[in-house]
Amino acid sequence: MNIDPQVLLIIILALIILGFIFEKTLSYINLKHGEKPVPEDLKDVFSEEQYQKSKEYRRTNYKFGWISGSFSLIVTVLFIGLGGFGELNSYLQSHFTFSPIVQGLVFFGILFIASDLISTPFSWYHTFVIEEKFGFNKTTQKTFWTDKIKGYLLGALLGGILLGALLFLLYQLGTDFWWIFWIVITVFIIFMNMFYTTLVMPLFNKFTPLEDGELRTSIENYSKKVNFPLTNIFVIDGSKRSTKANAFFSGFGKNKKVVLYDTLIENHSVEELTAVFAHEVGHFKKKHIIGSLILSILQTGLMLFIMKELIFLPELSQALGADSLSIHINLITFSLLYSPISAVLGIGMNIFSRKNEFEADHYAKTTYSGGPLVTALKKLSSDNLSNLTPHPFYVWLNYSHPPLIKRIKALNAS
Ligand SMILES: [Zn+2]
Repeated sequence: MNIDPQVLLIIILALIILGFIFEKTLSYINLKHGEKPVPEDLKDVFSEEQYQKSKEYRRTNYKFGWISGSFSLIVTVLFIGLGGFGELNSYLQSHFTFSPIVQGLVFFGILFIASDLISTPFSWYHTFVIEEKFGFNKTTQKTFWTDKIKGYLLGALLGGILLGALLFLLYQLGTDFWWIFWIVITVFIIFMNMFYTTLVMPLFNKFTPLEDGELRTSIENYSKKVNFPLTNIFVIDGSKRSTKANAFFSGFGKNKKVVLYDTLIENHSVEELTAVFAHEVGHFKKKHIIGSLILSILQTGLMLFIMKELIFLPELSQALGADSLSIHINLITFSLLYSPISAVLGIGMNIFSRKNEFEADHYAKTTYSGGPLVTALKKLSSDNLSNLTPHPFYVWLNYSHPPLIKRIKALNAS
């Protein structure tokens, strides 16, 4: 293949800038669409005051998205345009005599820390100013910063192992790296799916078994009916960070778990919580976890397959300001060029996920009851100040869950 590095650079910058324009245009359209009158079925979700608050919340987040997004766009375009990646790489090469793998780990480590330093003030502001203002924030300064440190350590450990393995295979095997690394990453994805709630999440949240009482009895009765083993239902202290409520299903085999946030339990009736539990069991019974696991493994395979075609081309390094082939820089160039493909695959994943949500809702309705699920979903939308009238195209691209109105319609249909 013969590509002019200059042309490649222009393509990369154009992808970044067009992506930004596309995203901002779409979120503007969505913001405007969100101000439409609330549909009749959902009139009871918000009080008038709460509805005004939800509009204000969206407007604030929209503005914030503009500021943080523009800042990161400018920094990225400047850094790429001025050959920052090439500069950093040649600085490391001329000042340190590490092996290429260590060189690569240091290179990515510096970039990771730099990008985190840039984004931290924004996430701090989002948590302590915006979420605080709308009454969602429960995170203390201490939690915020210890999360950060834990995240760094975890990122260094897991990222270091995976990136080290990738670089090792690239240097040792050439283009054959792709299928061996695919096996490595597959093992990693399966491992993380099985142990995420046992090994990773407890670093950030406290897990407690659901205590005896009316709720446990109700869930036990339901579990017996649908033949779901109840050993693995947990409550986590979501209230440590936010008032926003949630529930999820994770893992498979002996490691499967239903996790309810304490914030969910606080605000919902026993019937509503059992309906939410039934929804999560639906994800298990309909094999959604395995389905999305297989899809993400296939996607990774596709990415690695395309990567092997590009990763050894010196033009990719030259486009980002290096003189000759650098595998580290090529990993960056590749990820930039791959971003449109991954965006398209992300849309596919969202379509799959929304279909799963309808199925899980339907499962909860047929095995338990639809009514309490409807009231639970309404309460959640109100408590989280959700957008009741998102733009359909925005939903199609970005939503992993169908909008409230669609879920209620499907649950109410016989
Ligand atoms: Zn769900």
